[in-house]
Amino acid sequence: DQADARIGALVRKRLETVGPTSMLFYEEPLHIVRGEGVWLFDDQGRRYLDVYNNVPSIGHCHPKVVQAVAEQMGTLNVHTRYLHEGIHTYSERLLATLPAPLNRLVMMCTGSESNDMALRLARRWTGRQGIIVTEAAYHGNTSAVTEVSPSSYKQGMPPDFVHIIPISQMPAQADPAAWFADQVRTGVEQLNALGHGCAALLVDSIFSSDGVYADPAAFLKPAVEWLQAEGMLFIADEVQPGFGRTGSGMWGFERHQVTPDVVTMGKPMGNGFPMAGLVAREELLAALNSDVGYFNTFGGSTVAVAAGTAVLNVLEEEQLMANAASQGEYLKQQLTGLKSSYDEVADVRGAGLFIGLDLCDPTQAGAPDPVRTTAVINELKRNGVLIGAAGKSGSTLKIRPPLCFGRAEADLFLERLQQSIKATAG
Ligand code: PMP
Repeated sequence: DQADARIGALVRKRLETVGPTSMLFYEEPLHIVRGEGVWLFDDQGRRYLDVYNNVPSIGHCHPKVVQAVAEQMGTLNVHTRYLHEGIHTYSERLLATLPAPLNRLVMMCTGSESNDMALRLARRWTGRQGIIVTEAAYHGNTSAVTEVSPSSYKQGMPPDFVHIIPISQMPAQADPAAWFADQVRTGVEQLNALGHGCAALLVDSIFSSDGVYADPAAFLKPAVEWLQAEGMLFIADEVQPGFGRTGSGMWGFERHQVTPDVVTMGKPMGNGFPMAGLVAREELLAALNSDVGYFNTFGGSTVAVAAGTAVLNVLEEEQLMANAASQGEYLKQQLTGLKSSYDEVADVRGAGLFIGLDLCDPTQAGAPDPVRTTAVINELKRNGVLIGAAGKSGSTLKIRPPLCFGRAEADLFLERLQQSIKATAG
């Protein structure tokens, strides 16, 4: 029909212009024109419940952010090389949410830039090259950060100075914390044997692209404490779990009772305004700065700081972290309950409003089922719910809505999810 023809024309135009690196979601791509809170609207006025987008973390097009950005854009928009109070007041406020040793904030525009600098800091500080990451991690798109992002490799493997931990094997371990620490120690030994040495352990503290590994809380603690005692660094990538998503704290690493050496952040920091940051001890930054300078044209601009300040205000005013905790708990409990009704639901893991649900094939001894997962995602889209997948085999539903997600939306999602599981059976 007419709508299909229009979508087809848009898809063709896109291929002719932006090319093959630009991937589209869904068998029938979605043409959205407007967002509000937890809802997205297509060109036909149909609304979709957003259970996936974590960038507009305080809600799509939040009016307070829109207003702050528009006002600042109309007043002054310059880089950081002038005195401007906004930079200090924002930095002070953000640093107050982090453990005291982490006392400096550098602002960038993307999580990739933040992780890129984290790698430079760790290598400069330790004089070593090796980095330990998890098997389906994604940390960004620069040349250096791609090397530590196993999930980006369509063929081949990361270079041998990157040691990879098979985190998907963790749930089967009797003592996950001891197992993880053992993996890290082995990684360091191997990197030493190869002559690279190990500079840092770099993990997303909720293991998003690995498929969400949240529990047991504090499973990172023995590994991180050992590494730090041996002079290596722990870099917490908070691009996904940060800014209250895990419900129990502002940062995902807090659940692990550790103090990172470097924290990287992005996505929700400006609720869609390109804004990212790196937090570290002053001494680490001073060491790097004595060799090479760092300047980021748009990072920490007056407008970025206005966006970031509005986000922090709204997080507090609307108590979104507490909402993430309570709605997340409810959702996780209900999703876990589905295991007894649906053989396909293998496991449910998560913290706050970040939940992973594994779909398996019960007729294949419970093997991960990425084909079924894709089918469920497309069926949910037809049913007005947007969601994505994660994990090593792409069989984990990634449940990660804006933090203003309420009980009614959680129930709607649960109903549509069950419909979609049934509709895609056999
Ligand atoms: N770290 C993690 C954990 C991410 O999920 C992402 C983006 N998906 C990045 C870093 C990179 O952020 P950006 O796309 O803003 O460069």
